Amino acid sequence: MNEYDTNRIYDTVKNIGYLKTNDHLSADCYLLNTCHIRDKSKEKVFDEIGRVRKNYKNKKKPIVIVAGCVAQAESREMIKREPFIDIVIGPQSYHKINKIIHNFDSKKKHELTEFETEDKFNYLDKIKNNDSKVSSFLTIQEGCDKFCSFCVVPYTRGPEYSRPFKRIIDEAENLVKNGTREIILLGQNVNAYLFKDKEKNFNLSHLILELDKIKELNRIRYTTSHPRDMTEDLIECYSNCKKLMPFIHLPIQSGSNKILKLMNRNHKVEKYLEIYKLIKQKNHNVEFSSDFIVGYPGETDCDFNDTIKLVKKIKFINSYSFIYSPRPGTPASKLKEINKEIAKERLLNLQSVLEDHQIKKNESLIGSTIEVLVENKLKSQNKYFGRNIFLNSVIFDGEEKFIGKLVNVKIEKINRNTLFGRIDESKDMRAA
Ligand code: SAH
Ligand code: SF4
Repeated sequence: MNEYDTNRIYDTVKNIGYLKTNDHLSADCYLLNTCHIRDKSKEKVFDEIGRVRKNYKNKKKPIVIVAGCVAQAESREMIKREPFIDIVIGPQSYHKINKIIHNFDSKKKHELTEFETEDKFNYLDKIKNNDSKVSSFLTIQEGCDKFCSFCVVPYTRGPEYSRPFKRIIDEAENLVKNGTREIILLGQNVNAYLFKDKEKNFNLSHLILELDKIKELNRIRYTTSHPRDMTEDLIECYSNCKKLMPFIHLPIQSGSNKILKLMNRNHKVEKYLEIYKLIKQKNHNVEFSSDFIVGYPGETDCDFNDTIKLVKKIKFINSYSFIYSPRPGTPASKLKEINKEIAKERLLNLQSVLEDHQIKKNESLIGSTIEVLVENKLKSQNKYFGRNIFLNSVIFDGEEKFIGKLVNVKIEKINRNTLFGRIDESKDMRAA
């Protein structure tokens, strides 16, 4: 979502004449868009600003802006700790960025941290999303009302908000006109999307089915979804919408019901398995990925083993796993942490099981021809980059004319993260 927000901030400041530069040492304005989900991200922000400060030591100081969730959560502290920062601007206030740059006063510090999500999108909807990438993000929903015990999102992104249905479709059509062939719908709880019009309620499945009608759009994805919001109509899309990719990122966090309860996730492992079964019934090819938190306060060996058991059952691909990181202001931050060494050991153990499945899945593709959406040419080599239906990176020998097209690639080699091959022009996958 930060990538989407950064693009939209850029679309906005372009209107007052600020353009991107690769020359980091002579920028008039330096903007860092930040994430607050784990503690490391905050420290990275201070490291980065420190680096910029050193670079500008004997030069004209740029306007330094910190945007995003660290800005939202730590606005005062940021300005106090790093006086090089001039402006902090939260994720729901960045529609005001032009005004603040325009009226900038170098003797003052500026803080914008109100939750004005609706105003923000009303403003942004008037400025076209000029993204022209083959695969583009499109935010449809923001914020969270679920308050998992460990998570800062409800405090940094604010309450759930869903954008008007028609405006999302307009934005999608514009992206496709610019060359986008894959849209990734975004939201902190993307499947909680609900827009109430006078006559009708629109949810995520309505959006997917409407996007399906855009002729030149080839692929639809959405992220991140919550097990509690996997409704029947959304599950049905896996059988009635060909453009919806057979890959779902559906975080479970832990395979232990005790830990899920402590996390206030409000669902059990059984519910997750039920969703898995229902989606597989609709389309057997669907693969699952998840986020996992390891070493949550109260997690025993037995709880951790339940997570490993679940991973072995579902055979997740492309998953993310993290050691629990206490976040200020969250209920879990008051709990006693488990031993750090044990948590690290568990993380490595989980990652090795996840990696094992990932490699096995990738190995099973060697020798086969798969559909790839070609995104770009690699800078360093004479090769092309795209993704398969499961979102894996594919690097292959290709040609410029294939960028933005679906091609067939015969896989010859793999590693954990990437598949390697060459174009196979003898097959037409979609026709088949
Ligand atoms: N809304 C999504 C997740 C959004 S946050 C969901 O509910 O699944 C992205 C991921 O960051 C989470 O899935 C979680 O695995 C991780 N995360 C969030 N807070 C964390 C914390 N305090 N420590 C470690 N990982 C965390
Ligand atoms: Fe955070 Fe996701 Fe839980 Fe919301 S549902 S509080 S975003 S982990």
